[in-house]
This record gives sequence, C-alpha cells and structure tokens, in this order.
Amino acid sequence: MFDYKAAFQSAVEQVKGEGRYRVFADLKRVRGQFPHAVRRREDGSEQDVIVWCSNDYLGMGQHPDVLKAMQDAIDDSGAGAGGTRNISGTTRSAVDLEAELASWHQKEAALLMTSGYVANEATLTTLQRILPGLIIFSDSLNHASMIAGIRNGGCERHVFLHNDLTHLESLLAAAPADAPKLIAFESVYSMDGDIADLAGTIALARKYGAMTYLDEVHAVGLYGPTGAGVAERDGVLDGIDIIECTLGKAIGVMGGYIAGDAVVVDAVRSWASGFIFTTSLPPALTAGALASVRHLKAHPELRVAHQERAQTLKDRFAAAGIPVMASESHIVPVHVGNPVHCKMISDMLLEDHGVYVQPINYPTVPKGTERLRFTPSPNHTDAMMDDLVRAMDALWTHCNVARMPVAA
Ligand code: PMP
Repeated sequence: MFDYKAAFQSAVEQVKGEGRYRVFADLKRVRGQFPHAVRRREDGSEQDVIVWCSNDYLGMGQHPDVLKAMQDAIDDSGAGAGGTRNISGTTRSAVDLEAELASWHQKEAALLMTSGYVANEATLTTLQRILPGLIIFSDSLNHASMIAGIRNGGCERHVFLHNDLTHLESLLAAAPADAPKLIAFESVYSMDGDIADLAGTIALARKYGAMTYLDEVHAVGLYGPTGAGVAERDGVLDGIDIIECTLGKAIGVMGGYIAGDAVVVDAVRSWASGFIFTTSLPPALTAGALASVRHLKAHPELRVAHQERAQTLKDRFAAAGIPVMASESHIVPVHVGNPVHCKMISDMLLEDHGVYVQPINYPTVPKGTERLRFTPSPNHTDAMMDDLVRAMDALWTHCNVARMPVAA
C-alpha cells in the first residue's frame, strides 16, 4: 500500500533541505496599538514586539473608522455574506465598495474577489479564455499569483527582464501584429521597492496593440493625490486597462479586486470560476474596506507621513553603515547577503530586542541577496527607530556582516 505519511514527510524534508521551511511568528495584534503586538513563544510565554514588516502600511487595520464600520456591519447584517455573488451573496456594502473603487481608479467598473491572489489568478486565467490566441508578456519579478494565472490559462507567454522596456519591446515586435496581447506587470515591486515605468510601458502597449494589466497591490492607498496608486501619481490611469489590487495591505482589511472598462469587468464577472463559484466577502469586510478607502482618499497627509518615515529610516540605516538597498518606494530592504546571517539577525532582533522583521531568503529573492525588508508606517515613532537602529548596529557587529561606507 502507498505510504502517504512518508510522502508528506519527504515533501516537508525537501523544503527544509532547500532552506525554504517557514516558521511563523505567532502574533496577537492589539486593538489601536499598531505597530505593537504580543508574540507567543513556543513555550507559551509572551513578549511585546514592534512589528517592522507589516503590509498594513498605514495601520488602517486598526483605524477607528474601519473598526466602527466593521462592528456596525456585524450589528446590522451579521457575520457572513450568505452565498456566492450570484446566489444571495451580493451585499449592499459590496456593491457600494465596487462603485467606490471604480471611481477611485477612474474606471467604469470594479469587481471584488476573495483576495488579491485570487483576483490575479482568476482574472489572468479567464482573460485567456475570453481572448483566444492571447499572448501574455510578463515581468520576470511578477508575483506568484500572476504567474499562476498566466500559467493556468496555458497561452503563449513571454517573460521580459524586470523593468526592461527594451527587452519587452523586442518581444512585442516579434509577435504577430494582429494577435491579442497583454502586458502584465506591477507598479511597486515589493522585495526591491523599485517602481515600473508606467508611461513607457503604456506607450509600448499602444504601439503594439496590447492591453495593460497592472498589479498595484503595494501602491494603492500610498501613491497619488487620492491614494489611487502609481497610475494616479503618474497621471496615466487611462492607459491601464485592468488594475488589480488587494484590500489587505494599505486598506488594512482583506480581499481583492480588479477595475477597468465596464465590458471588461462584465466579461470577467461572467467567465471567471474563481469569482463565480465562491462565497462573497462578509459585509463586515466590505464595510470596513469602504470606510478605509474613504479615509485614505481624504487624507493625503498619511501618504506624506508614510514617505517621510520610510526616508528617515533609510537615512538612519545609511548613517549607521547598515547596507540599505536602493529603493524608490516606501519599502526599506537591507542587504545581508547570506541566508544564515539573515535568519540569525532576524531571530536575535526578535528574541533580544523585541523587533519583528521576517528574513527574506531564496527563492523569494535570488541567492546572495538575502535581506531584511522593513516597512515603516506613520505609526513607527522616532523612539522605535532609535531602538531599531541601535539593535541593528549591534547585530551587524556581532555577526560581522559587511557594512556600507558611512556617509561623511
Ligand atoms: N500581488 C502582489 C504583488 C502581492 O505582493 C500580493 C500579496 N503578497 C498579492 C498580489 C496577493 O494579495 P492578497 O494578499 O490580497 O492575496
């Protein structure tokens, strides 16, 4: 008989052997106290920590408006949505949220999905069914959910070198002129913090008759006058055919969506299994996200504070000789360069200094570029930064990791 247990054990061992085995920090977020959290150790004891790697970039997951909207929605409507969108699950706050998201992105329509992952996977798979013969051009650093969607559809695909428009153009030029084409890319890339050239990509799309599909998961709420993302910041919203995003990062709740022309969204709504055959988001989530979006639109000062905190942390690390990597965004990656030190520094930051930052090792990033990825929010104070920089400085010495030249 087949030895199932051994097969599962060997799958786990394989991941361990490749250094990819993940150990989670067990955190209790404390209402209204972001970025404080209480970590539970394996022995059950507790420790206060400052979270430095959250994607709740602006702390909206603890914002009073969001919490009140969620509580009111539970009081008004109860827990679950009660069904798929088609079968009794189209709740009022989901409809209102879709309208709000569409207008935020200056698009005709938006469509909610279970998560950003599902939005990417379901939409990119479905576009291949809607557009027979579609050829997809995909940035080499696209997120796993985009890769999954592109692969699952089985169409012809070409991966272009990260943010390399010359390479992208050579691939576009080699494809048949009359074939339907889609360029799939992100605005802010979450591991390096670099930002795509949206205008340049749109110009190529127009030249070669391609659609554009942009993942703004790490940008919405954070860039642009109303926080609609890098496409808004760069004034190119109308050059992006489909914007995909999450409700789980700067918006602070959970869920995903796409926004685009009404007919595009209607076609995806009508064809995407990952949208059709799943229970819709609970009213508390959609109501909380709606409150969050409204707050984000009206509060540009949050974005100013966010950028200031990120720049201050980059400057503080650089002044201490900590090798902060070049990043054009709010993401602050620090180069360590080997997995053992990366894990060791992260463990010691947590256990000895109450600083929680997850190590980022291969295969998430290439070997030799292992790093710590800090995401400061407006709630991270100067005092927290003092503690962090002091701890990093001590550990860099302790582990004898290479420093960058200290700025004069
Ligand atoms: N796209 C990108 C670029 C992401 O980083 C992520 C999540 N890490 C997702 C999509 C998926 O979003 P969600 O967490 O809402 O599933």
